[in-house]
Amino acid sequence: MLIGIWEDFLKIVKEEAGSRVVETWLKAVSLYQWDANSRVVYLVAPNSFVKDWVQTHYMQLLETHLGRLLNAQGLKVVFLDCSDKQEAVASNGGTEPNQTPVMMHPATVSRHDRKGTKKDRRSSVPISINHAHINQHYQFDSFVVGPNNSLAYAAAHAVTEKIGSLYNPLFIYGGSGLGKTHLLHAIGNELRRLDNGMNMVYQSTDRFVNEFISAIRFDKVHAFQKKYKSVDVLMIDDIQFISNKEQTQEALFHIFNFLHERQKQIIFTSDLFPRDIKGLAERLRSRLEWGLVADIHTPTLETKMAILKKKAAANDEHIEDDVLEFIASRGSTNVRELEGALIRVIAFASLTKQDISIGLAQRVLVRAAPVAQEPTDLSSVAKAICSFYSYRLEDLRSEKRSREITRARQVAMYMMKKLTTKSLREIGFFLKRKDHSTVLHAVNKIKKEVECDDELQQQIKKIEEAIY
Ligand code: ADP
Ligand code: MG
Repeated sequence: MLIGIWEDFLKIVKEEAGSRVVETWLKAVSLYQWDANSRVVYLVAPNSFVKDWVQTHYMQLLETHLGRLLNAQGLKVVFLDCSDKQEAVASNGGTEPNQTPVMMHPATVSRHDRKGTKKDRRSSVPISINHAHINQHYQFDSFVVGPNNSLAYAAAHAVTEKIGSLYNPLFIYGGSGLGKTHLLHAIGNELRRLDNGMNMVYQSTDRFVNEFISAIRFDKVHAFQKKYKSVDVLMIDDIQFISNKEQTQEALFHIFNFLHERQKQIIFTSDLFPRDIKGLAERLRSRLEWGLVADIHTPTLETKMAILKKKAAANDEHIEDDVLEFIASRGSTNVRELEGALIRVIAFASLTKQDISIGLAQRVLVRAAPVAQEPTDLSSVAKAICSFYSYRLEDLRSEKRSREITRARQVAMYMMKKLTTKSLREIGFFLKRKDHSTVLHAVNKIKKEVECDDELQQQIKKIEEAIY
């Protein structure tokens, strides 16, 4: 009857925290033993790295869901790694751990114990040079240059002409949706077009971190280092997400030194200036600032209109300036959102077979985003939450875990997701949470509760009224 509990657990976590958590971490763990008398569940991790990570980040998930599945509220989770598995058994009375019900999941146990399996898994880790991530739509030609981004544009263009020797590293930073990724891909496309045999890698920081983590798990660190040390151009997008990832930072630090000494080109983007990225090792931070730091600001109305015009033309649409101005002036400085608005207008006109006019744009955009639903920013939500629950922002950002503060924090996360355009990760960052799965958990939890809890609904309504 106990068999399958771990798999059920994985299914639940996948639902709640996403498949990445399961694939990267929890699948490597197995359920070793359940001691019903002392209410301790023993888990085995393949090494202490995985053990520490899961312990730091997913303990609450483990306790809650295993507690439910084993019908043992308040159970304790004890982690063993492969090396101390024997010790635990010995200290458990020196006998085989079967005085109490023992559960060894066949699938997970066999993965660790059957000879050869581990090796097979290792060889399946993909570590190879990959250009496939370059998006062909993001070209220098399709990038509108304005006073807000001319430095970043010029620098990006210049590095393609003098790889490694001009601005190295090049660090492009600016707010979300302002064209950083576009420029990075434009560099990639330009290098491809020049076809000078450059070996380049574009990688998002998320993927870089995950790749490094699986390299550790499957003893592929050497191959990982080799891959990155063999490039001529290394582009890493959204480097701010490396914050608090100490081991990945360490690995990047060595790769950086290796490449830089050999005049290989390194380019980073970030939505924060290196100095403002929290949880970044000093020596890596200083290296990020070594070369040129080029920032992108928010575009002016004229630039926003020019961008929209270019996007419309790319869709074979001619749109009058007054309509473009209406869309561009609706407040958003995020080009991604502007594009979204443009596409909605074009799609609506085409579906209803009407001409694109300012009246139509008004109808589409005003209806799609009624005033009360206009996205707000994280600080405004935080302010309203703090004033409603009588906390300070530091409290929301703290490690304090009393029931009340946890509740206020969870409501904050839920409302931030609902009322802003920020990602779970950005919300986690803002509230100084190490892992965005905490935010996902809170958002889903409050979303469920709100449906059947009138009082909570009222609270949220009041907080919303305070924001708008
Ligand atoms: P970031 O990486 O800074 O968050 P992106 O590069 O993903 O932003 O840009 C978001 C969208 O806005 C993309 O579709 C991009 O093509 C477009 N965009 C941003 N700035 C410009 C620009 N100056 N000219 C043309 N398109 C732009
Ligand atoms: Mg980006």
